[in-house]
Amino acid sequence: SAKNVTSGVQVYNVALESGSVRRLGLASDLRRAFDAGELDVHYQPKITLTDRRLVGVECLARWHHPTHGDVAPEDFIPVAEHTGLLSRLTEFVLREGLSRASEWSEQNSAIGIAVNLSPRTLTDADFPSLVARLLDEYHVDAGRLTLEITEDGMVSAGGKMPHTLQRLRDLGIRLAVDDFGKGYSSLSYLRNLPASEIKIDKSFVQGMATDEGDLAIVRAVVDLARHFHMTVVAEGVESEMTLSHLTEMGCDIAQGFYFSRPLAADRFVAWMAAQSAD
Ligand code: C2E
Ligand code: CA
Ligand code: CA
Ligand code: CA
Repeated sequence: SAKNVTSGVQVYNVALESGSVRRLGLASDLRRAFDAGELDVHYQPKITLTDRRLVGVECLARWHHPTHGDVAPEDFIPVAEHTGLLSRLTEFVLREGLSRASEWSEQNSAIGIAVNLSPRTLTDADFPSLVARLLDEYHVDAGRLTLEITEDGMVSAGGKMPHTLQRLRDLGIRLAVDDFGKGYSSLSYLRNLPASEIKIDKSFVQGMATDEGDLAIVRAVVDLARHFHMTVVAEGVESEMTLSHLTEMGCDIAQGFYFSRPLAADRFVAWMAAQSAD
């Protein structure tokens, strides 16, 4: 601002380096990005290990900034969270994903879509009714939608389960515990969660080829999930070797660069067509 002109360059640099100020810069850009069409969703396939079938896609938010280029979700989701833009972002991704799901029904009627939620969305009591309205609007069955929430996000303050989780579950929506293994919840807590899917965090999946400890963790999570009749998904699968290990263990579904990177909608449609041509 004009007041700081005389204080010079020093102040400017300090301000730029502070995360909150950078965030404020990105915040006004993010607000504008919705209308400017800079936001998009990419889709990454989830594949069954026994018969290599496409069962669904994870929807991943993308922001192409006009001067910074692609901003990583890890950088702009916190911005959305701090600036009251989170619900707008979540609704955007849900609408994109659901409209694609109904569009792709002609090619693959069973394809499910998974959308990531920030833990704080679970404190929004109106969120379940929004999701119900959107499912209705896009004519998508609730059972085709999975909401992915990190382990810590599912266990709110005081160890209590957020009320919205049960309401989402009652609508027939599937819930997945994301990044499993990275959080601090106890294994026994898993039993009390209304989730039907566990996603093993990619750090363990990527470590299992070289690290005995990671391998043991993945094996334990797969066993645990089967015991609780939950679907178990390995994320971050990059190699054939990891894939065959996971198949041996009885993991249900895999997702990762080995199959495909997250793709823009048109490229994902081309990928699907190439798969069914084989
Ligand atoms: P996540 O939910 O754990 O998503 C998986 C991340 O792993 C994605 O990163 C994906 O591109 C990446 N990935 C997938 N397969 C591989 C692989 O084989 N190797 C490696 N190295 N990486 C792989 P991305 O798209 O950068 O998203 C990062 C995180 O941002 C997500 O992690 C999720 O927590 C968050 N995120 C993305 N979109 C949304 C959104 O719409 N809402 C919310 N709340 N969070 C989102
Ligand atoms: Ca996820
Ligand atoms: Ca993850
Ligand atoms: Ca994550």
